[in-house]
Amino acid sequence: MPPTAGRLSQDNHSRDSAGLTYVYPVISRRAGGISIGINLNPNNACNWRCIYCQVPDLKRGVAPAIDLIKLEQELRAFLYELLFGNFMLESVPLEARVIKDIALSGNGEPTSAREFEQIIEIIGRTKADFPLPEKLKLVLITNGSLINRVAVQKGLRRMAELNGEVWFKLDSVTQAGHLHINNTQASLQRMRDNLRTAASLCPIWLQTCVFKLNGAHPNKAETDAYICFVRTLLLEGTRIQGVLLYTLARPALQPEATILSKADPDWIEAFADKIRALGIQVKTTA
Ligand code: SF4
Repeated sequence: MPPTAGRLSQDNHSRDSAGLTYVYPVISRRAGGISIGINLNPNNACNWRCIYCQVPDLKRGVAPAIDLIKLEQELRAFLYELLFGNFMLESVPLEARVIKDIALSGNGEPTSAREFEQIIEIIGRTKADFPLPEKLKLVLITNGSLINRVAVQKGLRRMAELNGEVWFKLDSVTQAGHLHINNTQASLQRMRDNLRTAASLCPIWLQTCVFKLNGAHPNKAETDAYICFVRTLLLEGTRIQGVLLYTLARPALQPEATILSKADPDWIEAFADKIRALGIQVKTTA
């Protein structure tokens, strides 16, 4: 399988850059190398509609039925090419020629795939057949809204055995903010319960996107509520590895794009320091 991507840069996040349905490579700033992406939402469907979402032609919905045979074939063929073919030499800049992780991160919510548990099994057995770095992570980037499903929980349990990590989206912990930013009616209680469940099954990071709306950073009520929410989680013993705090890297592809802009680096660092004061690790990307 010769992937047809040209030389990838950090700006090339196209899910079809290797010409495959489910598997795509990305040079990742966050991971510091090449990340093998698995997109379970080739239909660009998500159960949320975040106002900063960068999925083209995003629509409401869930992942389509996944062709498990094709997914496994693509993953095996891509790993083979990456490890034994010319892809690294021809398409990846010298400084990024290291495989950092396999990431379930696509054009929608990955856990909405009904086959989620089987997909984790496929990744596990495929990983075992290749000479991959021992510490290779398996990352699930999720909005966390479907973690109450038994099949998703089984998948998370298996992920924990595969050096897995869950990146759980937590942009706002106020009902108004959650509704406005993520366009979901899901209750905060459900979010809290799902977060606790995820953390009990697999190591978890909170992923929090901050930005300016009409030129204004999140207000004090929002940031205070966030700090209070995380403090409560920690006090009750929920195991959280840390917080990934980032801002918009690329333009949103939603109607609100014109009123969104990056958070200032100083603001991000000041907010990160407040979170760190709770005794938790924070990684920032300005
Ligand atoms: S959860 Fe992710 S894919 Fe879904 S709308 Fe939000 S940013 Fe887009």
